[in-house]
Amino acid sequence: MVKKGNLYMLLLILFFFLLAAFEAADIVFPEMIHSIKIVSYITLTIYIASTFIIFFLLKEYDKKADEFQKNQKKMENIFDTLDVAIWSHDMKNDSLLITPGIEKLYGYKMENFYEDTNLWKEVIYPEDLYVLEDRGQKLAMGQPVTSQYRIIRPDGEVRWIQDRGIPTIDQKGDFVDFNSVLFDITDRKESEGLYQSLVEMSPDIIAVVYNGKIEYINEAGCKLIGADCQAEVIGQSAKNFVSSQITDLIKSRVFSTDKLETERFLFEFQVRRTDGESIEVEMAARTILYEGRFAVQVVGRDITQRKKSEQTIKFMAYYDTLTGLPNRNQFRYHLNEILHHQENKTHAVIFLDLDRFKIINDTKGHTVGDIILQKVAARLENAVQNEGLVSRQGGDEFIILLEDSEKENASRVAKRILNEFSTPFEVYSDEFYVTPSIGISIYPTDGTDEEALIKNADTAMYQAKDHGKNTYQFYSNNLDGISTWKMKLENWLRRALEQEQMTLHYQPQFDLRTGQIVGVEALIRWTHPEYGYIAPAEFIPLAEETGLIVPLGKWILRRAFEQRKAWKDAGYEDFPIAINVSVRQFQDENILPFISEMIEEVGLEASYLELEITESLMQNLDNSTIILNQLKDLGVQLSVDDFGTGYSSLSYLKHLPIDKIKIDKSFVDDIISHSNKGMMVKTIIDMGMNLKFSVIAEGIETEEQVKFLTRNACQIGQGYYYSEPLSAEKFEEFLLKGNDPAQLE
Ligand code: C2E
Ligand code: MG
Ligand code: MG
Repeated sequence: MVKKGNLYMLLLILFFFLLAAFEAADIVFPEMIHSIKIVSYITLTIYIASTFIIFFLLKEYDKKADEFQKNQKKMENIFDTLDVAIWSHDMKNDSLLITPGIEKLYGYKMENFYEDTNLWKEVIYPEDLYVLEDRGQKLAMGQPVTSQYRIIRPDGEVRWIQDRGIPTIDQKGDFVDFNSVLFDITDRKESEGLYQSLVEMSPDIIAVVYNGKIEYINEAGCKLIGADCQAEVIGQSAKNFVSSQITDLIKSRVFSTDKLETERFLFEFQVRRTDGESIEVEMAARTILYEGRFAVQVVGRDITQRKKSEQTIKFMAYYDTLTGLPNRNQFRYHLNEILHHQENKTHAVIFLDLDRFKIINDTKGHTVGDIILQKVAARLENAVQNEGLVSRQGGDEFIILLEDSEKENASRVAKRILNEFSTPFEVYSDEFYVTPSIGISIYPTDGTDEEALIKNADTAMYQAKDHGKNTYQFYSNNLDGISTWKMKLENWLRRALEQEQMTLHYQPQFDLRTGQIVGVEALIRWTHPEYGYIAPAEFIPLAEETGLIVPLGKWILRRAFEQRKAWKDAGYEDFPIAINVSVRQFQDENILPFISEMIEEVGLEASYLELEITESLMQNLDNSTIILNQLKDLGVQLSVDDFGTGYSSLSYLKHLPIDKIKIDKSFVDDIISHSNKGMMVKTIIDMGMNLKFSVIAEGIETEEQVKFLTRNACQIGQGYYYSEPLSAEKFEEFLLKGNDPAQLE
């Protein structure tokens, strides 16, 4: 460019030269020149003015050029800091311009790119070279293309480059020039990669839905839906998996807010899997910008298991899991509701307990027990029909609530229940006879609240059990009468001991094969001077309740053992005497010293003493184990009375020093009375023998029972069939007669 100063000088010289030329012309041709001179002066004035204008414009131009240069420098600086490089190739002149930013991007010197114009391509990460194919084709058609690829810098570092190529093509289709803008996008790519892997690997379901179509879904989402791959799901309508009410609801909620992209909404709904199954999900939804448009993003998880557990917990809170019947909680809730809303009506509460269920459970196993309970539940529902609510309280106890029911109706239902139990329960081709004992209380006569009604129905149930089981009993509120009788009995009992109203009877026990006496059981007898005979079943529980059994029990032990000593002295040597001992007696810490002293004082070997304990002793197993072991150490024999009616389990018994189990009379009765023909007796004998106990059957009344028992390897028996309990004298006569087996046939 022409320098500014020179231009001004040139213009000034030109001006003075013109001035001199005019003055000279004026001297040589004064007339002629005058008019020309005027024109020339005007021209000169214009010239001077324009010179000044030009001068001014040039100055302005200078300023602009300066600014342009400054801006250019600024731009260069910006490019330098932005990690941007520009590659500009003018094909016509074959001139290449590369901005210095390329050095920062690629790590190579700028000269390297001028020297080798293919260098940019050579450093591309081999796996990314494929992008160039598509790029080349598009550029050839004159289309701008944005490509992303990785390059390897000389120090080995891998960077991501975004390359925006813009070609210019002339009419002939030849390249005129080509410009490319190159960015380093490594940071963005890395964070994108990080987020992408977070999304892909997330165990939560992540999906994007635009316009009702699934635009994106991660692997967890595919798995949830039951699809093999993302391609199977992407592009499908969300309504293929979720009901349209739900998709509409989500859409309307997420777009209803002003805070798009930030406010999220929670939903729980069902998803239909590709296999047709339904699952429960919990999802958070909000809007996001996805490829430039507002779409719905959902993030959530499968909560099917949680829902199921919640339902199970709910169910367990109100239903019995084994039978599916309402449980205690629901029953109580229901009863209270009825007492609250129908207080003017009469309602019945039926308490039902299964007789001898425990023994089936123990001998046949819990699986059989559970099946029986389920069948019992079904039969109860059948008997009650829609007249009331059948519930299981736990164990083998059931309570039925008959709404708006008088005594007569309750009685009808109770009979129907008993009738339902008249046929055996068949489990794994075995038949079980299970009978219920039923107690009934009536609202409002027998109680006005839940507690009283249940308690009184329970009491009535025990009365039913006392009345021989398999029956029903209404609660009798004649409590005054009962307590008066009990008080009277207690008084009598205290005096009975002092006045020696009690005696002992003795019932022999036999070897079932040989008919030999192998034992004798001492049984208490009480004849009240005024009242007459009072059965042990009547007064023993009261003696236990009042603690009178402790002195009474000691008296029995001593009397019976002394009697046994007398018989031994009389020559009857070979059998022990069995004496019943109540649990209450074991609570007396004196029991052990008492027994050992007694044995000493009576002067008979401990092996002659057999103690009959009941299964209720097992309730305090730790304590019982200690005492029983101490008794065993003394040499005393131990047998479990009424086996099968209480709460013991054979598996407990095997850890105790037990010698013998006495099968309860009710099982022995089954041999002849039920079609299952003594199956329980057989099971008890088998199990007892397996555990190395001797087994004795009590309450034998018929020959058929004897035959059955011998056939099934039961060794010992006792019962009216052989002999009723006898006074000491009668028993001696019995002994004297000799146990002639022939007599027993
Ligand atoms: P338990 O120890 O099981 O005694 C057997 C009961 O069955 C006795 O009744 C006996 O008379 C009766 N019995 C024996 N064979 C037959 C039979 O073939 N048919 C029938 N129907 N009954 C038979 P008992 O004497 O009335 O005693 C009842 C219960 O009272 C005893 O049952 C026992 O638990 C208790 N008890 C009796 N004496 C005593 C005692 O001295 N001390 C304690 N603690 N309890 C006793
Ligand atoms: Mg007994
Ligand atoms: Mg018994």
